[in-house]
Amino acid sequence: MYRFRFHGRGGQGIKTASRIFSTAAFLEGFYAQDFPMYGPERRGAPVAAYVRVSHEPIVIRGYINKPDVVVVGDETLLYDPVADPLRGFGGGVLFVNTPLNPNLSVDGEVVTLDLTGLALEHIGRSGAISAGVGAVACKIAGFSESSMVDAVVRELEEIGLPDELIEKNVVVAKESYRGVPSFDLDSLPSLSESDFLETDIVHVRLDEGEVGIATIANLGNSAVRKTGNWRILKPIVDYSKCTGCKICFAYCPDVSIHMGEDGKAHIDYDHCKGCLICSSVCPFKAITMVREVKVM
Ligand code: SF4
Ligand code: SF4
Repeated sequence: MYRFRFHGRGGQGIKTASRIFSTAAFLEGFYAQDFPMYGPERRGAPVAAYVRVSHEPIVIRGYINKPDVVVVGDETLLYDPVADPLRGFGGGVLFVNTPLNPNLSVDGEVVTLDLTGLALEHIGRSGAISAGVGAVACKIAGFSESSMVDAVVRELEEIGLPDELIEKNVVVAKESYRGVPSFDLDSLPSLSESDFLETDIVHVRLDEGEVGIATIANLGNSAVRKTGNWRILKPIVDYSKCTGCKICFAYCPDVSIHMGEDGKAHIDYDHCKGCLICSSVCPFKAITMVREVKVM
């Protein structure tokens, strides 16, 4: 059995990527099981998806605590204590979507590719990486390119994407697939017999009602949740164009824009999560979004 764990941010299509991978596995003659896990249902929040692939029927259920392959859709997640993508990883393959060439000291093979750059180039959207992520996983597992493309088309049709967008995604998928190496997963040190037992138990803490709810739901704490590291694109205000009309201020869903004493829009980068709304609603085209690459 091969165990793949996908990590990304809400809006990057990580669940779709895991479905692309598991559908391709099915087309390659494997049994496949996939399921996502969401944290806060917000764009940019960490999400994970789990896929098991096997030549035998899969009877085990639950989270994958000891993955053979970890696929990370956003490099900033590597240091996110909530997402914790390297948890249980050792002796397998780690893929990171990044334009950088990080010197990661992990026990295993490290593969990188700039999927966000490919998505921007061919689709025009930084978050449209589901086909690329799925394709990379297929290549690492040694699946054929034709199964991968078939799976991309099936899954994107399933979620209702128009043909033109599916074609662009296929271009991204093929470039992603060809941009990474394939591995003989059966030879990975992570695939020892004892790992199959996965005996880790997830303990759910039982607190009193008022403290047992997700902390993010407690009143008045959003200011202390710095969501700036969720951002892939950063809004930049051109003050020669900003008229101070306040439209971006009204639309920002995270209250991350305030009007300064100069009467113009100013952005709180500690909390802006890069949703693009301000840029799209500004009638004077005063806000541009630039790619923000984090240093690892
Ligand atoms: S919507 Fe545009 S012009 Fe209006 S305040 Fe915001 S940045 Fe300035
Ligand atoms: S991108 Fe703009 S609208 Fe979105 S959170 Fe940042 S400042 Fe607010």
